[in-house]
Amino acid sequence: MVDLLVMTGESAIPLLDLKAQYATIRDEIGAAIDRVLESQRFILGPEVENLEREIAAYCRCAYGIGVSSGTDALLVALMAIDLKPGDEVITTPYSFFATAGEIARLGAKPVFVDIDRQTYNIDPAEIEAKISTRTRAIIPVHLFGQMADMPAIRGIASRRNLYLIEDAAQAIGAELNGERAGSIGHLSCLSFFPSKNLGGYGDGGMVTTNDKDLADRVRVLRSHGFRKKYDNELLGGNFRLDELQAAVLRVKLKYLDNWTEGRRRNAALYRESLAEAAFVELPFETPNSRHIYNQFVIRSSRRDELMAQLKDRGIGCEVYYPIALHLQTCFKDLAYRPGDFPVSEAAAKQSLALPIYPELTPEMIRTVVQTISDCFD
Ligand SMILES: *Cc1c(COP(=O)(O)O)cnc(C)c1O
Repeated sequence: MVDLLVMTGESAIPLLDLKAQYATIRDEIGAAIDRVLESQRFILGPEVENLEREIAAYCRCAYGIGVSSGTDALLVALMAIDLKPGDEVITTPYSFFATAGEIARLGAKPVFVDIDRQTYNIDPAEIEAKISTRTRAIIPVHLFGQMADMPAIRGIASRRNLYLIEDAAQAIGAELNGERAGSIGHLSCLSFFPSKNLGGYGDGGMVTTNDKDLADRVRVLRSHGFRKKYDNELLGGNFRLDELQAAVLRVKLKYLDNWTEGRRRNAALYRESLAEAAFVELPFETPNSRHIYNQFVIRSSRRDELMAQLKDRGIGCEVYYPIALHLQTCFKDLAYRPGDFPVSEAAAKQSLALPIYPELTPEMIRTVVQTISDCFD
């Protein structure tokens, strides 16, 4: 994850400015935190229960189970389908580490499929060829806030009898053909890491599902695998979301759609202002989709120069992600090599995220655009 200092630091225009957001909700947040402190109830109380209901409704899904992070959401979702050593899970090599990391943590094998060049999301056309007798699940990631090709992926999962788990960590509120991220998979994973569109004041996450039995398993696994204290029916862990985070997130959820609209407005402004810029490629928007722009990622063959220039002028920007997952040192036993996933590897060399947060002003966007133009003059 990003160093938070990069996001809120001394840049003239930071990549993300959480202080600007906090200034608009300070009183409500204070009241919510006080409410929890007065109750002295910190673990699995009314705040978590209410947040679970509210997030499930927001995602148009039946159940929500609050967990300790997006990473733990992935872990507990995979535990809920009883993923075992030797099992295989198909996913993308172009994502935050946790997507593949949690598969491997359970002793299972991440099997990568390259991405679509335009959307940066897993390419469904290449999934079927990677399915083996050991494949248990597919984990598409809705990268940067835009949904993967779920109609195609859902078709494959259902035809081949595989679990479909959405990594919706960057995509709360994203839509495709009227369906919401987090409502399609057997299980879906959300993150409330501070830099996500709905970010807490610490770590947090949620698993959503329409399946009553899976919801029940996740709920039991989240607290050591016991339904009744101290009667452990499953081998679980401590994957709980706490009341303070839930109280903060409930305040912020009310503003989420406004903030998302702000991000979309900023994206439209970038698009307009960069339309003539032949040297950068703008993010693609899938037709019939609602991109929530957790990141606004442009692409350039001179990315490193551009990044240096932006940083030099005090404009925050970051590379998501500089090393594709199949080339990570910790996965060297999987024996992938450079060149195995050329589309992901090219994206790792060319992509650059620009500031897109809702409080960004049109003037700030003009400054970013001008700095980009200067770089190529
Ligand atoms: C942030 C993120 C995660 C992990 O979430 P944490 O809450 O940071 O553990 C997983 N997958 C993706 C795609 C993410 O962006």
